[in-house]
Amino acid sequence: MITKENVEVFKTIETPFYFYDVELLKQTLDIYKFQIDKYGYNAHYAMKANANDRILEIIKSYGLGADCVSGNEVKLAVKSGFAPEKIVYAGVGKSDKEIKAALNAGIFSFNCESIPEIKVINDFAGQLGKKAKISLRINPDIDAHTHKYISTGRKEDKFGISPWMFNDVADILIECHNLEFLGLHFHVGSQITDLSVFELTCRRVEELQKWFIERGMNVRNINLGGGLGVDYNEPNEHPIAQFEEYFSVINKNLIVRPGQKIHFEPGRAIVAQCGHLISRVLYVKVGQKKKFAILDAGMNDLIRPALYQAHHDIENLTSDGRKMRYDVVGPVCESSDRWGNNIMLNKAERGDIVALHTAGAYGQVMAMKYNQRDLAKAYYSDQM
Ligand SMILES: *Cc1c(COP(=O)(O)O)cnc(C)c1O
Repeated sequence: MITKENVEVFKTIETPFYFYDVELLKQTLDIYKFQIDKYGYNAHYAMKANANDRILEIIKSYGLGADCVSGNEVKLAVKSGFAPEKIVYAGVGKSDKEIKAALNAGIFSFNCESIPEIKVINDFAGQLGKKAKISLRINPDIDAHTHKYISTGRKEDKFGISPWMFNDVADILIECHNLEFLGLHFHVGSQITDLSVFELTCRRVEELQKWFIERGMNVRNINLGGGLGVDYNEPNEHPIAQFEEYFSVINKNLIVRPGQKIHFEPGRAIVAQCGHLISRVLYVKVGQKKKFAILDAGMNDLIRPALYQAHHDIENLTSDGRKMRYDVVGPVCESSDRWGNNIMLNKAERGDIVALHTAGAYGQVMAMKYNQRDLAKAYYSDQM
């Protein structure tokens, strides 16, 4: 929640900047932790959603592991104090350097996405005199009903190993003596709000794990990835994701074998709502048919609308004037630098402070300096 006191401070700070509601992050983690402990599940935070050091520090303090998608993320996870034995590492294009560094770090699991990758990890593990623990990232051919750029589990997506490759994978694992097979990994997409997608995933997991079990392979771990969505339209009404419903769907639909461990990799659902991008109205430009509210925050600060046609709720924090329609745009020289068309905002004037809500996930971490703009700083509710 952004308080009146927060807004008074915002007025004195150079915009744009990220504002993190630390209390909300902690409340979210309290609820998340309660749910996973209830079922005995394990969680690895997907660092790519937000790798801000204070955010990582808070998440780590809840005992979560880390889910990484690059060698530098593995390095940062270790440096930030995440236990290596709780680090998982996925990615279709792991480089030689990244694989060796992760082997040396002693991570819990390489989530492997292709047969050639499995062979390369086996070779490097042999050279370093180590045993690499691997899981197979499976492409279950499920449509996550989300934007095509954040859908990862359909057969045309680049991620994971498809069922038609299973015979070859099983043969290769027999030959790879420097690998230890841990189990199966699934991550079908992001911003999934239709919980029936997870129901379907659980059913596919059962069909697919049977294949491996029938061939005598010990599937000790099932990792269901991340993907739970948040409410971008009404963030103030729904600041915490539907964790209870989500885990109840998983618990009802996933068949767990004795001794099997179940893992998750939440990203967005943990951090999205605690972050806000705070901006000033630079100009209100009145056209013949519409009004433009031109903000000082642009796509370089938060790229989701330009990249995924995503919507962020926008609120004018310093006006209680009559609601009017604006096309809300950023200052960057790209037509896709646009926060939304026909957005209802309290009457806007130059100098008004505006919040772009639900900006904690895939926001600051994707920021760049395009147009030679400054990178937005971060401020925290408990340090204001
Ligand atoms: C991005 C990603 C996640 C996190 O997804 P969210 O939708 O942010 O929860 C989890 N696992 C893998 C492998 C990912 O690539």
